Amino acid sequence: MDGKVALVTGGSRGIGAATVRQLVRKGWRVAVNYRSDEASAAALKGELGEAVELFRADVSQEAAIVRLFEDVLCRFGHLDALINNAGVTAPMCRLEDYSAERVSRLLQVNVLGPILCCREAVRHMSTRHGGEGGAIVNVSSAASRLGSAGEYIDYAASKGAVDTLTLGLAREVAAEGIRVNAVRPGLIHTDIHAISGEPGRVERLAPSVPMRRGGQPEEVAAAIVWLLSDASSFCTGSLLDVSGGR
Ligand code: NAP
Repeated sequence: MDGKVALVTGGSRGIGAATVRQLVRKGWRVAVNYRSDEASAAALKGELGEAVELFRADVSQEAAIVRLFEDVLCRFGHLDALINNAGVTAPMCRLEDYSAERVSRLLQVNVLGPILCCREAVRHMSTRHGGEGGAIVNVSSAASRLGSAGEYIDYAASKGAVDTLTLGLAREVAAEGIRVNAVRPGLIHTDIHAISGEPGRVERLAPSVPMRRGGQPEEVAAAIVWLLSDASSFCTGSLLDVSGGR
């Protein structure tokens, strides 16, 4: 089977799964990473068939990331795109109630993971290392510029780091065939809000969105797929807000 190959971290649910579906529709083969929810991953595989392969790995762990890339390259032979989508929030509270464990966990998943996944992708894709180039899209958040006061400032700060990672790496590898961009979703209807303790968060905050609604995962996926495509061939280091004006 021909076609470009993408790795989507956290591709089994939400924004990641919507991205996987759109990539497959465009003829990509997709390595779908997930951490633990076998049922969601298996359902996506059942829906999309041989265009996708599942790779269980915790992308907050260096050894797991190295093995993930080895497994993906062994299965597909090469890699054209990385979507650093896996991310977590934490229970909503004020900063004075944070534990060090909570902040460390957030930074490990949302910052260390994307940086190390970028490292593995650059080692494979960069023309400096004999690669054929490629594209990276990091999934940041509007939280990086809003700050998430009273909810999760540490999460917002982790996404600020993702923005800076995107700007710096884009410049570092721009002459080596790799484009690096980010999307910054606003309030999107996925499970992440229930996981952080408020299933109705999007509905509560929708009136504060200039478009007066939350977004759908497919609306973020469309931006990601555009940033991976030749249609965005002169974009690198771009932070694309997909947030209904918020
Ligand atoms: P979601 O529905 O909760 O899905 C998260 C996905 O990430 C799942 O596939 C999950 O796998 C995976 N994952 C979590 N931790 C992982 C780890 N350590 N290793 C590997 N996979 C891991 O989340 P979402 O709302 O689609 O969010 C996707 C991205 O968008 C995140 O980076 C998030 O910060 C960002 N974002 C979301 C919103 C929003 O409103 N939804 C807004 C701004 C930004 P398992 O199911 O196996 O755990």
